[in-house]
Amino acid sequence: MNADVIIIGGGLIGSTLALALARHELTSIVVDTADLEATTRAGFDGRASAVASASARMLGALGLGEVLEKHGCAIRGIRVTDGTAPQFLHFEAGEGDDPLGIMMENRLLRIALLAAVHETPEVTLVAPATVASLVRDAHAATVTLTDGRVFSAPLAIAADGRRSATRESAGIRLTGWSYPNAALVSMVAHTVPHGNVACELFYPSGPLALLPMVDSEDGRPRTAIVWTVDESVAAGARKLGPKALAAEIAARVDGTLGEIEVIAPQAVWPLGYHHAATYQAERLLLIGDAAHGIHPIAGQGLNMGFRDVAALAEVLVDAARTGQDLGAPDVLARYCAWRRFDNSVVGAVTDGLNKLFAVPGRLPAAVRRFGLAGVQRLGPLKSRFMAEARGETGQLPALLRGELV
Ligand SMILES: Cc1cc2nc3c(=O)[nH]c(=O)nc-3n(C[C@H](O)[C@H](O)[C@H](O)COP(=O)(O)OP(=O)(O)OC[C@H]3O[C@@H](n4cnc5c(N)ncnc54)[C@H](O)[C@@H]3O)c2cc1C
Repeated sequence: MNADVIIIGGGLIGSTLALALARHELTSIVVDTADLEATTRAGFDGRASAVASASARMLGALGLGEVLEKHGCAIRGIRVTDGTAPQFLHFEAGEGDDPLGIMMENRLLRIALLAAVHETPEVTLVAPATVASLVRDAHAATVTLTDGRVFSAPLAIAADGRRSATRESAGIRLTGWSYPNAALVSMVAHTVPHGNVACELFYPSGPLALLPMVDSEDGRPRTAIVWTVDESVAAGARKLGPKALAAEIAARVDGTLGEIEVIAPQAVWPLGYHHAATYQAERLLLIGDAAHGIHPIAGQGLNMGFRDVAALAEVLVDAARTGQDLGAPDVLARYCAWRRFDNSVVGAVTDGLNKLFAVPGRLPAAVRRFGLAGVQRLGPLKSRFMAEARGETGQLPALLRGELV
């Protein structure tokens, strides 16, 4: 069986790419080792993601606007503080402006994506299935599965996540390191409304993010928690009961949320940074976490992947319309030129931010507070940060403007 592309990995990024290509009449075969229905069950991925406004516009253009409207919580403000110090940096979307982002449960996004994939004839989903070999030559990329099925296309795309076996077997080197901490993710209900404001509280032991969610079914305000903890305490944090965890969170948020109840079991994620030395090999491209992975401090990892999708879809649709070979080196190079620099910058800034706020001591804290107060007063710099949060910097592909190519 043949298609325009073979996508290895049907997670959030691989599925979105398949839909983006399908909306432009390009066909794909998506192969995933997991049973994707199982990845939509409660407990598989308890995370919530901040979907930047530009990413949300793309999802809307792909027909997924309903899930964001129904279950997404608009982020109207972002507040950054050094611990609970009174100086802070506050970004606010103006009245009538797009929100800075939309908080969404990953599980609900997965359900919507999978349903859309099933309804789209241009996408053939092959899962669960294991790739036995990927052979790439001057003519085609050919995937053979362990059950003997063979698929061929002009281009294979690795969307198989941070431990991408496809990237490894292509011999693509990786720059990367592990952070000495882990992210504890949970959800709380509380008595004081969040006001659609996302808070990032920086402590030397690691940042604590409070991310506004739509109210719980019983009408209480809800907030997603991403708490970066030292690796040495991660094992203990994993075992905290709901009451002890609520007390730990309450101690760090200074009463902002009122009474807190933990309403979801915590999950602990290891944190690291990685960036592939190249996104391109013969008839192969990397996207999403297969290409890059960053600290979740600024909630940008998934959005970087969405931006990869939008740029790659535009490059491939242009190439198809002008009759070019979708796997030709110069077509692949266009995608890499578009995305590598942006991903490098976001990765470096995120890493720097994490390290800057991790320096202990009173002098670094004073410098940080001075810096926060300074940025707060500098209009153009604030506008730049807001554009970054919305995902609206750089050369925007059509999909991120909410348009099909
Ligand atoms: C704690 C935490 C919080 C985060 N919060 C945010 C946030 O607020 N905003 C944001 O933008 N990002 C956030 N991120 C980052 C975001 O979750 C990832 O960037 C995103 O999930 C990557 O999606 P992906 O589809 O590239 O990879 P994955 O989600 O890893 O999907 C890879 C897919 O490939 C499949 N696969 C794996 N190996 C193979 C194989 N050999 N063959 C076939 N298939 C295979 C897997 O089954 C899976 O379906 C966060 C990350 C963490 C850890």
